[in-house]
Amino acid sequence: MTSLILRPTKKFGRVEGCVRCGRKRGMVRRYGIRMCRQCFRETAPAIGFKKYS
Ligand SMILES: [Zn+2]
Repeated sequence: MTSLILRPTKKFGRVEGCVRCGRKRGMVRRYGIRMCRQCFRETAPAIGFKKYS
C-alpha cells in the first residue's frame, strides 16, 4: 500500500485536489497551484493572476 508515490504537501496539508474546496475535477495544476477551475477563477485575481479566459 505504501508503494504509491505520495509526496506530503505541507503547504496545503491536503491530498491532491482543490486546495480550496477539495474537488478533484477540473483541476488547474499549472503555476504550481492546485485548484479546480472554479476556485481558480475566483482566486486568480487575488493571487496576482490575470483573467483566465
Ligand atoms: Zn475548488
